[in-house]
Amino acid sequence: MATPPTDDRRTTTAPATDDRFAVPLRGVDVDPETRCAHWDGAVDVVALRFGCCETYYPCDACHDAATDHEAEQWPRDRFDEPAVRCGVCGATLSAREYLDGDGEAQRASGSRAKPDDDACPRCDAAFNPGCRRHRDRYFEA
Ligand SMILES: [Zn+2]
Ligand SMILES: [Zn+2]
Ligand SMILES: [Zn+2]
Repeated sequence: MATPPTDDRRTTTAPATDDRFAVPLRGVDVDPETRCAHWDGAVDVVALRFGCCETYYPCDACHDAATDHEAEQWPRDRFDEPAVRCGVCGATLSAREYLDGDGEAQRASGSRAKPDDDACPRCDAAFNPGCRRHRDRYFEA
């Protein structure tokens, strides 16, 4: 799959948020599907919410560039709240939904339910499988 044109790139720093998105989101060179200056591959379309400022960023380096405080992971006691955004369809997923890659929503939507599937349960867009490998940066263990 070809990467769509990425000429609409914006850098947004606190306290502003990027008005292209329905959720508060900021970062460095963010494209319409939330690729960023640091993660710019075809499947780098996930934005993650941070516990410190409750704002979504394409990655932790974006968080650090766009704010002047220390990043805090999404807290475990809030894993049922939206904490991950798919840049392709714009859906927000709870941390549990994203980390489990399985669950009610996926079955209810009728899409295939393979456990380790790194794809959006709503639109099937492929996610970077590497993201989950450093999930400790984003989600409280
Ligand atoms: Zn923050
Ligand atoms: Zn980034
Ligand atoms: Zn999606």
